[in-house]
Amino acid sequence: MSKVHNFSAGPCILPQEVLKQASEAVINFNNLNLSLIEISHRSKDFVEVMEKAQALVKELLGVPDGYSILFLQGGASLGFLKVPFNFMKENGSAAYVNTGVWASKALEEAKKMGTVHEIASSKDKNFNYIPKKYQIPGDADYLHITTNNTIFGTQFKNIPISRVPIIADMSSDIFSKKIDVSQFDMIYAGAQKNMGPAGTTLYIVKDSALGKSGRQIPTMLNLQTHIKKESMFNTPPVFPIYVSMLTLQWLKDNGGVEWIEKVNQEKADLLYNEIDVNPLFEGTANVADRSNMNATFVLKDESLTDEFNKMWQTANISGIKGHRDVGGYRASMYNALPLESVQVLVDVMKEFAKKYS
Ligand SMILES: *Cc1c(COP(=O)(O)O)cnc(C)c1O
Repeated sequence: MSKVHNFSAGPCILPQEVLKQASEAVINFNNLNLSLIEISHRSKDFVEVMEKAQALVKELLGVPDGYSILFLQGGASLGFLKVPFNFMKENGSAAYVNTGVWASKALEEAKKMGTVHEIASSKDKNFNYIPKKYQIPGDADYLHITTNNTIFGTQFKNIPISRVPIIADMSSDIFSKKIDVSQFDMIYAGAQKNMGPAGTTLYIVKDSALGKSGRQIPTMLNLQTHIKKESMFNTPPVFPIYVSMLTLQWLKDNGGVEWIEKVNQEKADLLYNEIDVNPLFEGTANVADRSNMNATFVLKDESLTDEFNKMWQTANISGIKGHRDVGGYRASMYNALPLESVQVLVDVMKEFAKKYS
């Protein structure tokens, strides 16, 4: 089988060795002659997986004491609702920075629960930048941001300075670079962008911030339920958690977040440089706000679309078609994507320019 260069935006590329280990565990886990997915989640063998996954999150991100690590279901999209349930006081309010489709969805869920201040938005320019100047109301229960905007290819390069607690959806850039967890009361992220298969969502939550909303919170939406039961209130998604654990172990073995941050910067520099020098393409995101995970770009002359599509498909590139809200192309360069794949894409773009410009 020839190698496919997988730029999919999510679910996305995972390390080959992780996929191999995961496939073996589906048949015979820990030499039990049983599959990982046919044993009890309360068995010693699986409890070890859960504990290891939590420990790896703590270690890789330097999570301080006083935070809990949860692996839950429902995707980041259910997180949009858990945020106001757990953090917005009854009759309280929250501040949201609207930087894209996912940020808007998070905001809409919060609106169902109380007063939401959309304190800044980049909707006026089809979300191609990160707003920088805004006032955060001092009486807001929290500020919500989406650190990487998967669809539009923008990323917060700095976390806002805020007097109110910050909650961040980091679905598409968690583990891609160093972060200071102590800046946040909660971070949440669907696994399928940088950590594992779809089906589990990571929550890193400051324990002391919970239990203050004064709301009746449905059991499954109450983060304290899951903290008390160590993510085993109900059956956890054992396979996605196992694969996430393997991916985090892979990251650690290769040098951790510090290492991947450098690699990700190299990949992003390589591609954005080509987008900028190539006469046939242009980037869609504001240069200072460009995402290191998802690079969005378009052809200056759309009549060449078929020709370009043929060329990258022939080079075994997959998954670079842009989201319908932006058009053009989106190359997602998550942790497991090797620099070599970005080089292949850049070479195709160069060859294309030679032929058609
Ligand atoms: C993909 C994505 C989501 C949605 O995640 P689900 O797990 O599918 O609910 C939310 N936020 C961001 C930033 C995303 O990239």
